[in-house]
Amino acid sequence: MKHLYGLIGNPVSHSMSPDIHNSAFQDLNLNYYYQAFHVENSDLADAIKGIKSLGIKGFNVTVPHKVSIMEYLDDVDESAKQLGAVNTVLHENGKLIGYNTDGNGFLQSIKPSLSKPLEKNSILVIGAGGAARAIYYTLSKFAPEKIDICNRTLEKAVYLIEHFGAGQRGEALTIQEAESNLSEYDVIIQTTTIGMHPDTAEKPISLKMAKDNSLVCDIIYNPLKTALLKEAEAKGLQTLNGVGMLVEQAALSFHIWTGMKPNTEKMAEIIVGKLGGEHVNR
Ligand code: NAP
Repeated sequence: MKHLYGLIGNPVSHSMSPDIHNSAFQDLNLNYYYQAFHVENSDLADAIKGIKSLGIKGFNVTVPHKVSIMEYLDDVDESAKQLGAVNTVLHENGKLIGYNTDGNGFLQSIKPSLSKPLEKNSILVIGAGGAARAIYYTLSKFAPEKIDICNRTLEKAVYLIEHFGAGQRGEALTIQEAESNLSEYDVIIQTTTIGMHPDTAEKPISLKMAKDNSLVCDIIYNPLKTALLKEAEAKGLQTLNGVGMLVEQAALSFHIWTGMKPNTEKMAEIIVGKLGGEHVNR
């Protein structure tokens, strides 16, 4: 039987989710199809009614509906509830159930790059927006040596530490403070929008003080190599771009819908290919 899945958001025209999910459906011989739907804020309630009545089996949720979708769902899984945001919905037995795969998607993507167990790392998160919240919440549960947050708006970093740190001790820092303390961190995770296409020359922080064996992650995937990752590479530091997180959060959504694991290497190749890259940098 043909099942329909999808994405709701605004904008969605540049989303690569249809490419990776449809490819995975084909690979696994599933007669399913994934379609992106542009949904305005004022149409969200109607869109949800349509999803229910048309029997769409599951969908992803992106900006600007990740928070507002929650009031239309029948149930929300614990971590999505804690985070106050949903990026994946399963439609099962007439009920819509919300999940958030962003934090675990990042966790899956960083695991192969860590040189020691997560809990032994000292971590800095740059940024305090929605993605930072999911990453901070997920990583804090492992009780790393330290996990600090720096952000342009300091109060937002303080808020994340107070509400999403799972009892973890952490400091909220200004960007300048973090920049001069950079040698304290094994892992630096950049989650702001700075450096994203088209403003590719911009960097949220200087890596001058970063220690030699640190890992620098940038969750941006367009461009594949941000100015920050270029600086890290030039310093000989280990790097990780946002393709892995994008793929892994999608793979977790796919698993919620189908119970199956897609080929994440192939998903990454599709994304890198669409972004004009030649090889998978994960
Ligand atoms: P968001 O909620 O809007 O948060 C934006 C963050 O960027 C905030 O910390 C904000 O600081 C900071 N920022 C924006 N402009 C700035 C500037 N000019 N100077 C200093 N800081 C600035 O966005 P988000 O949803 O967390 O997404 C952030 C980035 O992550 C985007 O590039 C997105 O594409 C990427 N992302 C990637 C994945 C993936 O799968 N790879 C998943 C989710 C998101 P203030 O708090 O001071 O405003």
